[in-house]
Amino acid sequence: MITFAIDPGTLAEDSQYAAKRAAKGEGPGLASRFRADEPIDDVDLATLLLSADVATDELWEIARASRPAGVPKVETFSPLYFTNECDGECKMCGMRRENRALKRETVDAATICDQLDVLYRRGIRGVAVLAGEYRLGPQRDAMLARAAEAMRDAFERGFAHVLINVGSLEAQEYDRFLAGIPRSPDCVISPQITMCTFQETYHPRIYSKFMGSRPDNPRSDFDRRLVNFDRAVDAGLRSANPGILLGLNSDIGYELLALCAHVRHLEARGMQVYISLPRLRKASGAEHFAGLSDDDLVRMVSLLTARFPAAKVVISTREAPEIQRRLLPILGVLTAGSPGVAPYGEADARFEIEASQFEVADQRPLEVILGECLASGAIIDGYEPAEKMSPAVSAT
Ligand code: SF4
Repeated sequence: MITFAIDPGTLAEDSQYAAKRAAKGEGPGLASRFRADEPIDDVDLATLLLSADVATDELWEIARASRPAGVPKVETFSPLYFTNECDGECKMCGMRRENRALKRETVDAATICDQLDVLYRRGIRGVAVLAGEYRLGPQRDAMLARAAEAMRDAFERGFAHVLINVGSLEAQEYDRFLAGIPRSPDCVISPQITMCTFQETYHPRIYSKFMGSRPDNPRSDFDRRLVNFDRAVDAGLRSANPGILLGLNSDIGYELLALCAHVRHLEARGMQVYISLPRLRKASGAEHFAGLSDDDLVRMVSLLTARFPAAKVVISTREAPEIQRRLLPILGVLTAGSPGVAPYGEADARFEIEASQFEVADQRPLEVILGECLASGAIIDGYEPAEKMSPAVSAT
């Protein structure tokens, strides 16, 4: 099986071509074709993204029509960071190694279990286990072992979906990470484990600008990260979460084209794909780079939702309530929670930016956020509100 690769020169040319077509007014005709379910290609999609004469609401409507009929149905999970230590040097991230302003914290396995128990009591049934990325050596081995233990602890407690966001892994690291996890006869991992590695930008030069280029920086290797999901498939995983950090590259047509190619590749390899579209946010000790406008975010989400009906677009509560509400009917996943380290209490969470990866816009308790979605008629997979739980679970 061929591993994923991109040709940055071709992507840049295709994005420029899409911009020219948008300027010539080809957008409305493409929107009509898209709405009528006629075939369009990725360059057509980028043209729609860049077409000022195609209203964002029209793209939203096309996306809505592509979703199952009836009330919005989304999935949820909550992030759980067990450390904010990292050997990466990503300029936009509060956890970067050189950031002296960040208050460093790492919690032990018992605290992770307590946090899983708290999330479970609060009704959450999907959890993303997060850490930094580490140079080869004992700290990397220890952090990966702790993440693997957290994953096992989550499944033991009844979580249905565990996402792993600890950087890209080598083949032998996958084998250790997944040792003992049940597999089907064809060696595919049975519980739902999703590997998360956002490329952030598919443009190698911009990637180096933000993620660095020193060989001892574990995050600096663009190509190694790009094929992480291929190693994950080979290791037996069938769920992947790529993503772009909107705001790093102003050429959003380029990023859309690259992401489409990546999603298509992963689906061809048999993966369920979760597409994350976080916007750049303020972070401890980092320059505040501008993100993307609300409108452009809605256009991106709409186009990807309509283009890949089997994939799930993920938006987090790093977004404010108004934009969550606007996107909910076309989303696959809305995540609620904090990027702080072991931040959860029985009814709240800590959100200090001086100890977190980035700033979160919506700091309401997750029950309020998800409760609002339920009250609007949405169905949420991965959340069991307290009043619906069995008395035995509520009381533990
Ligand atoms: S983005 Fe990830 S790898 Fe980079 S500094 Fe932040 S936590 Fe580390």
